[in-house]
Amino acid sequence: MTQNFSTDEDLSFLKDNLQEVLESIQNAAVKASRSPDSIRLMAVTKTVKPLYINYMLSNGVGLIGENKVQELLSKVEFFNKPVPEMHIIGHLQSNKVRKIIDTVDMIQSVDSISLAKEISRQAVLHEKSMDILLEVNIGSEDAKTGLDIRDLNETAFAVSEMEGINLKGLMCVPPMSDSESETRGYFEKTRRLYDELSSALKGKCEFSVLSMGMSGDYVHAIAEGANLVRVGSALFGARRY
Ligand SMILES: *Cc1c(COP(=O)(O)O)cnc(C)c1O
Repeated sequence: MTQNFSTDEDLSFLKDNLQEVLESIQNAAVKASRSPDSIRLMAVTKTVKPLYINYMLSNGVGLIGENKVQELLSKVEFFNKPVPEMHIIGHLQSNKVRKIIDTVDMIQSVDSISLAKEISRQAVLHEKSMDILLEVNIGSEDAKTGLDIRDLNETAFAVSEMEGINLKGLMCVPPMSDSESETRGYFEKTRRLYDELSSALKGKCEFSVLSMGMSGDYVHAIAEGANLVRVGSALFGARRY
């Protein structure tokens, strides 16, 4: 990541991108007979320099997502104040939990009971409670992180009993596909799991977050019920690693 703090850079492309994304979210919501206000936009900021992130923060985006603990921690001090709501969305190793327990507002990528246990342990130690989502490997892809669908129920029930954790819903990254109907099928399936779990866990936890949809498919995710979309390259341009 290069950190360029010059302020004479032309940032107008960011304004155009943001406007376009907000308009598509609005249109997708209206088309699905949903209120645009019920859908949250997360700016996914991996590899993005703080100057660009701050542009989004000062233009109404209040939620950012990072994949890596180290990268997030190295950027936090450069963010505009007040500090935005920050979520971890990438695979998280248990030994990194303590580094971010006081920094992030939600961990969306919980994919094992052992990770949840460590989050619970650290949350209790730090006298707080952490919001989490369970990440589902909805396409059952070998190369992807996320819970196997068959383990979802058992994991959700176990996690819902853990101290210091608020289980708020599900997150998924469906398989890459050029087929709209296939992509929508994965989103619909996740939505169904979300609804089923939400009623099964009634009284134990309150589901409110269905995180799905990225730059290439957030419009379809909204059509299938997503209420948090995670958008990176459509806001910031293609990533340069
Ligand atoms: C990178 C990433 C995104 C955003 O991807 P874009 O295609 O750039 O919008 C969303 N969710 C997760 C989990 C990611 O790793």
